[in-house]
Amino acid sequence: MNTYDVIILGGGPAGLTAGIYLSRAKQSVLILDQGMVGGQVILTHAVANYPGLPELSGYKLASEMKKQAVEFGCEVKANEKIFGFNFKGKEKFVTTKSGEYRSKAVIIAVGGQPRKLGLESEIKFQGLGISYCATCDGDFFTGEDIVVVGGGNSALEEAVSLTKFAKTVTIVHQFDHFQAYAHAVKAAEDNSKISFIMESDIVEFTGDQSLTGVNIKNKKDETITKLKATGAFIFIGYVPGSELFKECVSLSRRQEIVTDEDMSTSVPGVFAAGDVRQKKFRQITTAVSDGTIAALGVMDYLNGVDPDKI
Ligand SMILES: Cc1cc2nc3c(=O)[nH]c(=O)nc-3n(C[C@H](O)[C@H](O)[C@H](O)COP(=O)(O)OP(=O)(O)OC[C@H]3O[C@@H](n4cnc5c(N)ncnc54)[C@H](O)[C@@H]3O)c2cc1C
Repeated sequence: MNTYDVIILGGGPAGLTAGIYLSRAKQSVLILDQGMVGGQVILTHAVANYPGLPELSGYKLASEMKKQAVEFGCEVKANEKIFGFNFKGKEKFVTTKSGEYRSKAVIIAVGGQPRKLGLESEIKFQGLGISYCATCDGDFFTGEDIVVVGGGNSALEEAVSLTKFAKTVTIVHQFDHFQAYAHAVKAAEDNSKISFIMESDIVEFTGDQSLTGVNIKNKKDETITKLKATGAFIFIGYVPGSELFKECVSLSRRQEIVTDEDMSTSVPGVFAAGDVRQKKFRQITTAVSDGTIAALGVMDYLNGVDPDKI
């Protein structure tokens, strides 16, 4: 069996940061990611708010984090879906398709999934016009008319980035105001390719083989507008990836993992960091901060330090 000091589940900014700290402290560390290592950051076209790095692509930032972790000796495995785990005892076990791994402590840093609108037609056109990632799919819609759903920072920033490809971008938002920061709203408002449909919901995606239009319902007068669109990008938030762990650690009302200040969960030796845990602000910097604290919390745990006696 493969034995490590610490297993980190999830290779986004939180998991990679914890990996950097723990490997540098000479712990044997394995990061397991069910998909591509890098997390949501690799979906991000340009990161402009990471201190010290004025603007770089999300992919580049994630690659640099991974490189740094590996250079300190951290083992990183992508495409390792977790089939089972047992975190009850002093030894923790994780099973993937490649086998069973054992460790003294675990950090859950599995982030979240894009929130879906929940329409049947949304499932039908996923990958056939509907996307949750501008960086991945924006290019497919060069010269086309597209919609962006949402009113937060991601929706407005990604709408602006999509204007590099699309002929027009219509932002559909359920409220009469945006939740995004003022600078993101201004950038969208100043962009001549972007128009807005406020206080409205998409009620159906239409098309045959692929998306050709959306039906939009005004929330006030309930009128339906049929808009031609070959692409729809949905940015309405994220759902924490805690489902797998709900029988094991305490979750909040919103299904986020509840942690103490040192990122410890309700189970000794199990820590959580990043977007998966209960907190208000979800950013790369806050995930990185959580990863740091979780790593230091794990070190204390492994060294038998009682956090209540510090
Ligand atoms: C489109 C978009 C744009 C954004 N732009 C910015 C920005 O400009 N600036 C900013 O600060 N923040 C931005 N964010 C938010 C930021 O990306 C997240 O807050 C941050 O990535 C969270 O890091 P994390 O490590 O907690 O989780 P994630 O980044 O979600 O990483 C979690 C990782 O865990 C893996 N995983 C999931 N489930 C499992 C499992 N069961 N087993 C193993 N691995 C698993 C996933 O594959 C993923 O790699 C953006 C987010 C999006 C979606």
